[in-house]
Amino acid sequence: MLISHINPDGDAIGSQLALYHYLVASGRNVTMISPNNLQEFLKWMEGSDLIHVFIRQRDKCKSLIEKAGLIVMLDFNQPDRLGEMERLITDSKTTKIIIDHHLNPKGFADIEISDPSFSSTAELVHEFITGINRSPFYSKPYCEALYVGIVTDTGNFEYGPYTSRTLRIVAELLDQGIEKDRILNLVYNNFSENRLRLQGFALNERMVVLPEYQTAYIWLTKADLIAYRYVKGDTEGFVNLPLSIKGIVFSAFFVEKDGFVKLSFRSTGKFPSNEFASEYFSGGGHTNASGGEFRDSLENSISYFLKVLKENFSRLNGNK
Ligand code: 5GP
Ligand code: MN
Repeated sequence: MLISHINPDGDAIGSQLALYHYLVASGRNVTMISPNNLQEFLKWMEGSDLIHVFIRQRDKCKSLIEKAGLIVMLDFNQPDRLGEMERLITDSKTTKIIIDHHLNPKGFADIEISDPSFSSTAELVHEFITGINRSPFYSKPYCEALYVGIVTDTGNFEYGPYTSRTLRIVAELLDQGIEKDRILNLVYNNFSENRLRLQGFALNERMVVLPEYQTAYIWLTKADLIAYRYVKGDTEGFVNLPLSIKGIVFSAFFVEKDGFVKLSFRSTGKFPSNEFASEYFSGGGHTNASGGEFRDSLENSISYFLKVLKENFSRLNGNK
């Protein structure tokens, strides 16, 4: 059984499907679960319709988990990323493997294949498969899944720890004949008019720049989302936008939810956004991309953010 994380991104689904296509081609019996729904931009991927969504099919998923002989979790290393499935998986006696590229694994699996030097879990899955298969494996759906994982986790090669190894793998995928333009279109040019207008609104009306702290943040209320007919995934990437302002090294994005506020953080260079997230917002992630949450109103979350930012910016930014 292959499991991706809650709110699965392109790398979670890309690595899950890549491993799926390899294992099925090797004659294995494989099932897949995602804790919650996939976003539209991933639903074209071959095999994505075979991923059971836990919150939609709880009983079916529970029985699949009970029957699994081996559980592989992809693109996360903390049990709370399993959402509602957390207890079910952590209590399960079945052997569990994690394949992941985030820092500080929580040690809740029997085997951890964990390396933050990889651009993406998809790249790590490919290296792993190349190892166990004693040569690279390629099939069309496998190559597409790998490409989606690598492209989305590097922002189409704009950020993240991608290396010459990553680009060599991508070169191989191109040699295998993947249709990169079609895939990039499906991943990036698949948004609604409302989403683009919400982005304009967020930048115009809801972005605050704090030059003295080399920081900018954007906030959106529940009412804002309703006004722009928000659908899941519409705010993906907004948090990156303030980093394009000269001198800004840290960006935060606040979204009001029921009873809490979800935060995303991005940084450039050495600023450890994940330390900020884990110290103050019960979260974590990578140095340059992390997230967390705050169980209070949007207004109080922003005040708290400003307070801890002002107290800790120099220390964190000086940690070079
Ligand atoms: P995003 O801002 O795209 O939702 O998340 C970026 C990265 O931050 C994710 O890949 C994940 O590593 C991390 N992250 C986001 N939210 C949370 C959270 O609530 N808890 C933890 N531990 N990590 C998070
Ligand atoms: Mn990833």
